[in-house]
Amino acid sequence: MRISDILRVKGERVVTVSPEADVTELLSVLAEHGIGAVIVSRDGSRVEGIVSERDIVRALAERGAAVLSEPVAAIQTTEVRSVDREAAVDEVERLMTERRFRHVPVIENGSLRGVVSIGDVVKFRIDELVHERSTLEEYITGERA
Ligand code: AMP
Repeated sequence: MRISDILRVKGERVVTVSPEADVTELLSVLAEHGIGAVIVSRDGSRVEGIVSERDIVRALAERGAAVLSEPVAAIQTTEVRSVDREAAVDEVERLMTERRFRHVPVIENGSLRGVVSIGDVVKFRIDELVHERSTLEEYITGERA
C-alpha cells in the first residue's frame, strides 16, 4: 500500500506557516487546527522547514518565555525528510520509527502535496486489519459480516 492511498482518504490539504511568523502565531495555528506540526513555507508549496510541538517545548526549556516572540525560523528543523506519493506505507512507518518523528511531508515535483502523520498511518493500519478480519471471517463462515 502506498502513501497515495492515505492521501486519497485524508486529502491533500496542508497547513503551513511562514518562517517570519512568531512562535505565538504558531501556537494559534497548532491550536486552531488541532495538529502537532506545521510545514514552514512562504508560498505554501516549497518546503523550507517543519516545526512541531517538540521544537516549541525544547526551545521553551532552553530559553524560556522569550521564545514566544521569536520567529518560527529560530526553532524549525530545516533538514526535512519527505516522501513522494508512490512511497510504500511500510517505508514511511520505518522512517518515522527510526528517526523518531511523527510527520512526513509528501512532495511531488518540488511541490508540497500533503502531510502524513503517525496518526494517519495507525488509522490506515487499523482499517486494513478490520478489513482483513472480516474477509477471513467471511471466508471461514461463508457469511458476510
Ligand atoms: P514530531 O515527532 O514530528 O513532532 O517531531 C519531532 C522532531 O523531529 C522535531 O524536532 C521536528 O521538527 C522534527 N521533524 C518532524 N518531522 C520531520 C521530518 N519529516 N523531517 C525532519 N525532521 C522532522
